[in-house]
Amino acid sequence: MRETPAPPPRSASRRSGAAALLAAGLALAAGFAACGPSSSLAGPPAGKQTKPEKVEKMKTVLSKSGHDITPLSREEVARLAKKLDPESYRVTQKSGTEAPFCGNLLDNKKEGTYLCVVCGLPLFSSEHKFDSGTGWPSFFREFDPAHVTRVTDTSHGMKRVEINCARCGAHLGHVFEDGPAPTGERHCLNSASLTFLENGAPVPPESRPVKAETAYFAAGCFWGVQHWFSRGPGVLEATSGYMQGRTEKPTYRQVCEGDTGHAETVKVVYDANRITYRRLVEAFFSMHDPTQLNRQGPDVGDQYRSGIWTVDAGQEKVAREILEGLAARKEYGEKRIVTLVEPAKTFWPAEEYHQEYLAKNGAACHVTNPW
Ligand SMILES: [Zn+2]
Repeated sequence: MRETPAPPPRSASRRSGAAALLAAGLALAAGFAACGPSSSLAGPPAGKQTKPEKVEKMKTVLSKSGHDITPLSREEVARLAKKLDPESYRVTQKSGTEAPFCGNLLDNKKEGTYLCVVCGLPLFSSEHKFDSGTGWPSFFREFDPAHVTRVTDTSHGMKRVEINCARCGAHLGHVFEDGPAPTGERHCLNSASLTFLENGAPVPPESRPVKAETAYFAAGCFWGVQHWFSRGPGVLEATSGYMQGRTEKPTYRQVCEGDTGHAETVKVVYDANRITYRRLVEAFFSMHDPTQLNRQGPDVGDQYRSGIWTVDAGQEKVAREILEGLAARKEYGEKRIVTLVEPAKTFWPAEEYHQEYLAKNGAACHVTNPW
């Protein structure tokens, strides 16, 4: 059914949706007479749709503090930016600057963490806040240096270093070299770019360090299964491989022709703070046909069997509950669900050319988008 393709060069197309990289806006040095709405407010354009990006999903990037800082797609940033008030939208998405001595966080003395107002990534901590006298909230270092990116800004006839959220690209402010010890840096922030989270308050899922857990699913040819799992919200990585067989380190050829007993399986590493195992199992059932025995679509053979390989009793309980619920509700009519639920054996990653196969080759597959 399939040919063995030559691995094509990886697409290097995707970049952060950082609208804030456009250095526009007002100079920090400019004087402002009063607080209140600015005449240059630019809210989200009404009814304007962002063109979907047809690009490869980036590998997950984790910071030293354990946060997922993989740049968000332009679409995702646009979705998040819709919830912003006009001032936060103008500052973060149009590189605006709020009037000095006007931001709500300038005089905030409470202990806690300053989060990106757009994506919730922790950016600064009250431990590093100081009174710079400039009229803008100031910090001498970042919460985690990897959470804040720097770019040269030559607007307004000045050469400054603009700072942005590493995950969503939101414009935050600028960093100057006239801060206090120990860094000598002054991160000059707009309150409108931040949300304050006081110590002890519940931490939103998007602001927590990643809680990585693993799940394994077999739903036929792994090309499409890996493709859709990798695009799940909160999925950190999806890898194609072979599982539940009788031999070690199987090759694709051995699995297809050698009767090794392996099933084409996708290993899904996910952030349990952002997506549940239950949601993954539901996605698994909705992306393929669990009533087909030892085949999916055009692919026939027991390597294409439908299966959930569980890593503990908790996963097994959830998987069986969902399977039995689908059967009881007759979701597939009179057809029997043949999905196996078994304890996971060793996962053997497939050859590199099978990884992100659809993104590399643009081929279609039997599975449907479950998200
Ligand atoms: Zn952000």
